[in-house]
Amino acid sequence: MIELKTDASMDAMRAPGRVVGRALAAVRKAARPGVTPRDLDAVARALLDEAGATSPFLGYRPSFAPVPFPAVLCVSVNNAIVHGIPTDLPLRDGDLVSADFGALLHGWAGDAAVSFTVGTPRPADLALVETAERALAAGIEAAVVGNRIGDVAHAIGTVCRRAGYGIPHGFGGHGIGRRMHEDPSVPNEGRPGRGVRLRHGMVLAIEPMVIAGGGDDYLTAADGWTLCTTDGSRAAHAEHTVAITDDGPRVLTLP
Ligand code: MG
Repeated sequence: MIELKTDASMDAMRAPGRVVGRALAAVRKAARPGVTPRDLDAVARALLDEAGATSPFLGYRPSFAPVPFPAVLCVSVNNAIVHGIPTDLPLRDGDLVSADFGALLHGWAGDAAVSFTVGTPRPADLALVETAERALAAGIEAAVVGNRIGDVAHAIGTVCRRAGYGIPHGFGGHGIGRRMHEDPSVPNEGRPGRGVRLRHGMVLAIEPMVIAGGGDDYLTAADGWTLCTTDGSRAAHAEHTVAITDDGPRVLTLP
């Protein structure tokens, strides 16, 4: 069931969204060669604490997970696509990092992700990140009243496919509100004009993921959480929480 939010609720969701935006900016700033993903988790955790917010990621245990998620931040490095558990392995020059973060504040959730390079970037990684961001922008642009979920999915998928990248099969965005994951699901590829019609008050986490190698398959790492590419190629991820309003899409997870 899709829960429509009131204008006051959408305003209230800006609070956790702002925390998410600020934390991801701080994580990005802190990331450099020698810093560990666990250090980045600590940076994000400090921002949560400072804001009086809590983490929807920490302790999260969906049906596929063998253990509750042990961190507040997902850090997916190089061939990891999403859901990376922060490790103590220092980041190296040229690494590609995707950081995914959520916050709960005053009973509302926010969820966003950014991808960035560490140290001297590989041109191929910059192109991958740029495509994920452009796919996100296209998805947001299509998230307007009167369009359907399929229009958002199609906008995202078209950008990713035109660039020649893979789209991890079965993963995508979601409704968000009191809980991090609500209806509807927001696929990263789809047919225009299909699916649920978008209405004022729907809030969606839109999150394209791209695989450089062009395939859509993925595998789960030994930790039971981290999704990795099957061909060892790199992946990028971008996400915002977006409110659909009569005045157009409103991004809630900017700093
Ligand atoms: Mg999400």
